[in-house]
Amino acid sequence: MRLILLGPPGAGKGTQAQRLVDRHGIVQLSTGDMLRAAVAAGSPIGLRAKDVMARGELVSDEIVVGIISDRIGQPDAARGFILDGFPRTVAQAEALDAMLAGKDIALDVVIELKVDEAALVGRIERRVAEMQARGEPVRADDNAEALKKRLDAYRAQTAPVSAYYAGRGALQSVDGMAPIDEVTGAIARILGTGPA
Ligand code: AMP
Repeated sequence: MRLILLGPPGAGKGTQAQRLVDRHGIVQLSTGDMLRAAVAAGSPIGLRAKDVMARGELVSDEIVVGIISDRIGQPDAARGFILDGFPRTVAQAEALDAMLAGKDIALDVVIELKVDEAALVGRIERRVAEMQARGEPVRADDNAEALKKRLDAYRAQTAPVSAYYAGRGALQSVDGMAPIDEVTGAIARILGTGPA
């Protein structure tokens, strides 16, 4: 099973991806997680990405395409993967197409979590409060200013990615405002895997 989860920050991609990992034994490839790990490790990529990420802007296509290309070729991704947070630009989607064609693998589906933008800020504020309550470090880009930039970047650069896949007949949309279990159920129906 190879799929892409699309949706703005706070749409619930990470939560749904984790459920798919648990159920199907496939890997979640989150460029955001990989970049945060690179920043924490102080690697050359992390050093290049750190400030861009903290501002809520997108890091370069070249960096994320390189990361995904390396990761998709690793043995644990052979059974399948969920791309979470990638592709985020049409150029990344085109690079992904070329990468998959070169490896002779095909995507099964692209699932878009549709959410009301006004609700996203509240969701992220709750996520931050929960993380603080658990004593976990808060993401550098989970603040009002960076969040506005992340939503702007989504609208300008990532929304066209939905149209890109819709044009190929690969896009399925799910109501991301529904309760978490219902979203999981809707995704399972699209994947033809039945209720959890
Ligand atoms: P996320 O965890 O998916 O919200 O990503 C956090 C941040 O990492 C984003 O705001 C971007 O700065 C960067 N990032 C993650 N994925 C990508 C991508 N595919 N293209 C460009 N930047 C990305």
